[in-house]
Amino acid sequence: MKALVWMGKNDVQVHDVPKPRVVEPRDVILKVTGSTVCGSDLHLLHGSVVQMEKGDILGHEFCGVVESMGEGVTNLQKGDRVVASFQIACGDCYYCKKKQSSQCEKTNSNTIENGMYGGRTAGMFGYSHFTGGFAGGQAEYVRVPYGDVNLLKLPSSVPDEKGLYLSDVLCTSWNCVVDTGVEKGDVVAIWGAGPIGQMCADFAFMNGASRVIMIDSNWRLEFVKSKTSKVELLDYSALPRGTSVTAKLKEMVPRGPDVALECVAGEYAKGWAHYFELMLGMETDTSEIINEMITSVRNYGRCGITGVYVGYTNHFNIGSLMERGVRLIGNGQAPVHMYWEKLCKMIESGEIDPLKMISHRVDISELNEIYYKFEKKEDGMQKVFVQT
Ligand code: NAD
Ligand code: ZN
Ligand code: ZN
Repeated sequence: MKALVWMGKNDVQVHDVPKPRVVEPRDVILKVTGSTVCGSDLHLLHGSVVQMEKGDILGHEFCGVVESMGEGVTNLQKGDRVVASFQIACGDCYYCKKKQSSQCEKTNSNTIENGMYGGRTAGMFGYSHFTGGFAGGQAEYVRVPYGDVNLLKLPSSVPDEKGLYLSDVLCTSWNCVVDTGVEKGDVVAIWGAGPIGQMCADFAFMNGASRVIMIDSNWRLEFVKSKTSKVELLDYSALPRGTSVTAKLKEMVPRGPDVALECVAGEYAKGWAHYFELMLGMETDTSEIINEMITSVRNYGRCGITGVYVGYTNHFNIGSLMERGVRLIGNGQAPVHMYWEKLCKMIESGEIDPLKMISHRVDISELNEIYYKFEKKEDGMQKVFVQT
């Protein structure tokens, strides 16, 4: 079968690889019909997420049709059309029972409690040996462990192009907004206007926000502007010399936004040098974005972090945080299983339309080229639908 494999830093290729088969009783083999590339995949392309091995199949957002399954899967049938969760949950452990599936204790392979990463998350598809080394879904077929838990049946009214985004983007954005406590009347500032930031803007309004301000550079804000006029835009790259994002936000919202959401990523914010420092076990300066968030929100404002950061950071304005009662919230990897049924219903009813994120539709054979275009955001590339 065809699959997109990691061959080294900045080198991904479409290869012929063996088709997966059922290994465990709760496995499902899925014939993939749609997948996509995520901002998170770029961290793998750049080699900034550690423990990649040559030949690893990438892809953690995908949907498809059930091809076969082990005898432990009783809630699905061959031919069912389903979407996969990006994280692999067992359904039975302490966290899975609370629907906090991104912290599943059974599939979590990160044992470095206080080391470079110091975190814990469930296994993930196509996301390095750091998260279990599970093969991903940018392929013609994929093995889904605990398939009875990690696949959601799609209603016939929800086509692949919409249902696919329940794997990650929709659940991640919804989690970012509700976990940071966006409520009626809030002014919400969002750093990063990629697909995650864009859906956060929609969800913030749905949860009652009175204003949403998006901070990014022009190429991305232009896309946002072409889709909605409800959002206010702040181009951080075009600020006059000496004007900070915080100062500009104070002009726009004198008391400060109620809520700040981080939808960028540590990699962007800190530069690749950060990862060398991490490898050497050195602490590093924190992202300026986190400081911008802390210093711009109103007193007792909330800051939510959904963009991926790795390991230790320091030098953030803990004084401002403490004195003004600012809440800093790690939103975690989104617990997909907590939200995906509700969000699927919202797609069905037309309340949300994931199609607005899609800028390109491609075939799996073109996927390696797409990675490089996606990285450079060529051709106005936003979110891709990969037909398989
Ligand atoms: P993306 O790469 O498409 O968008 C990131 C945006 O941030 C870009 O438009 C970029 O121009 C902008 N940016 C860079 N520097 C900035 C700055 N200083 N100020 C403001 N904006 C800046 O990524 P995406 O797919 O939208 O994902 C966003 C983040 O969310 C990524 O870090 C991704 O890894 C993370 N993510 C987290 C989860 C989770 O469960 N926590 C799930 C999916 C994605
Ligand atoms: Zn993703
Ligand atoms: Zn579990």
